[in-house]
Amino acid sequence: MPPQRQKVRPLILITPSSQAAGAEFEDPSLSLSLRYGEAIFQAGGLPWVFPRTTDADAVRGAIGRCDGVLLSGGDDITPQLHRPEVSPELQKLCGASETPRDAFELLVLQHVFTQPRPLLAICRGHQLINVALGGTLHLDLATEHPSDVPHNACDRKDSAVHPVVLDPKSMLAKVTGRKSLRVNSTHHQGIDQLAPELRPVAVAPDGLIEAAELTDDARGFLPWFLSVQFHPERLAPKHAEQRRLLAAFVEACAKRR
Ligand code: MN
Repeated sequence: MPPQRQKVRPLILITPSSQAAGAEFEDPSLSLSLRYGEAIFQAGGLPWVFPRTTDADAVRGAIGRCDGVLLSGGDDITPQLHRPEVSPELQKLCGASETPRDAFELLVLQHVFTQPRPLLAICRGHQLINVALGGTLHLDLATEHPSDVPHNACDRKDSAVHPVVLDPKSMLAKVTGRKSLRVNSTHHQGIDQLAPELRPVAVAPDGLIEAAELTDDARGFLPWFLSVQFHPERLAPKHAEQRRLLAAFVEACAKRR
């Protein structure tokens, strides 16, 4: 009997946060919600949590070996990286930053574009890709983009709390089969000016851009791309359309193999 061919799971590099004191001798440690790994396993991928480094050769090698990249959520991007003139009042409203993670993820992005891989950017990742491509952020939505949409609903992190309207021509609409979605929302920052290579594909009732894809002109830069302000990995257990989104990403990674 011929050996049964096993389906090889695409290898998906995930960028984690860090925490000051982890489980092992309270060393500075990686930190990543288990939800990301669970969502990638469930969608058919093999997660690879990659520790931050500024070694460009290591990052180039890692991107070369993986089949796709997922930027996870986390702390606010260091404001000085994209808003040098930030006022002390606004700075105070930003959470603690993890500047070495910013540097690592910018390096990851640089290499994702030189060795093109499918890219899913979640929450902080949605903001980071926008900044990396020349867009800007609201540093604190309550101050700079006040509205009654509950964007900072951290007490309901696994629940859909506000709607977003989808661009019917978007990949996101096609993949989810929906004209709108209800999403979770645990962010106090958001996109102000969208980077020129990105186009908005999901918009909240207050106009905030909650998902982006590459423009027609930029589409060829990556085999697959989506950035989302919400957290599909938290919605996936209860929301089939979020599972379809994650499955589409993993399928694109599998195709690249
Ligand atoms: Mn939101």
